Amino acid sequence: MKAIIQDLSYEEIKRLTADCGQPAFRAKQLYEGITQGKDISQISTLPAPFKQRLLADFEDCALSILKEFTGADGTKKFLFALADGNVIEGVLMSYKYGNTQCVSTQVGCRMGCKFCASTLGGLVRNLTSGEILSQILKVNARLGGDRQKRAVTNVVLMGSGEPFDNYSNVVSFLKNVTSPEGLNISARNISLSTCGLADKMHDFADEGIPLNLTVSLHATNDEERARTMPVANKWKISKILAECDNYFAKTGRRYIFEYSLIEGENSDARHAEELVALLKGRPCHVNLIRLNEVKERTLRAAENKSAYRFLGLLQKGGLSATLRRQIGSDIGGACGQLRASYLGGDNDKTH
Ligand code: SAH
Repeated sequence: MKAIIQDLSYEEIKRLTADCGQPAFRAKQLYEGITQGKDISQISTLPAPFKQRLLADFEDCALSILKEFTGADGTKKFLFALADGNVIEGVLMSYKYGNTQCVSTQVGCRMGCKFCASTLGGLVRNLTSGEILSQILKVNARLGGDRQKRAVTNVVLMGSGEPFDNYSNVVSFLKNVTSPEGLNISARNISLSTCGLADKMHDFADEGIPLNLTVSLHATNDEERARTMPVANKWKISKILAECDNYFAKTGRRYIFEYSLIEGENSDARHAEELVALLKGRPCHVNLIRLNEVKERTLRAAENKSAYRFLGLLQKGGLSATLRRQIGSDIGGACGQLRASYLGGDNDKTH
């Protein structure tokens, strides 16, 4: 595979353009073209010889939309093809205030969470920063958005992969997507979800990127957490909470916990009480969701009734908490489900 031009910052594009002997305004045209979601060959403002020169070193198309599915609630799910033939997925959710795109950060994942489809085939490889960015550039363009009027207004790093297991590429991506010359999406409109790699959480607090830091908790103590999340054997909840507080101290951003309600595992009244005891008084919010059942996995979703009871207990205990509706569940909305069914040959779904 050749290099990917979307990996480059505006500064790097300027240097590349100068190295190719082109005048400075070509750098702006090139970066604008990329930001509009174009492949190199599609940027009509650039002279052919310059494009030829670029194509000797860079992939023309870093990522393309392979398939698009639209669910009954308007949620869109995308399968993307990478230049090396790997396939990843993403989701676009529409809300009153705009459109939120969920991006993948790795092909597969090696964290091994028992409820998650992304981890079924292990980690294939990291995505480059440009491959993460291109998911947004392509979807924004597909929906008729551009740099001035973005169709994608919010981004969540909650697709396949563990963002902090691909730390430097994810940080480069975040710098590029928030860059004023690029899509210029504010860090406040970006959420990054981690299973709790505490050492990387610590480093990230010093990057100066004040986004919505989200931690997948899914349990109230380390022992029970380790039953569904192997990462709990490495990082204790107490250490993760200390890093959340550090992030808050450095950025002023309150943090968020993801808690997927699993029948017979983490959704009893006892767990709600323990969660209140663990989080009370902290500058945080709890996002509850009923487990999205994955056909390859045996874990089951908590009943609607117990999910609402759980929510009520958290709120009564003084926590800020919401129960998210399961969006896009008819189109394989949960992490890694669409890719897993595609790779499994179950790819003739016509939703
Ligand atoms: N690796 C990161 C990013 C994934 S984000 C992380 O662990 O946070 C996706 C979120 O959905 C995480 O909170 C993850 O734990 C959760 N999740 C994965 N599979 C799920 C499923 N089948 N049902 C409900 N939540 C799920």
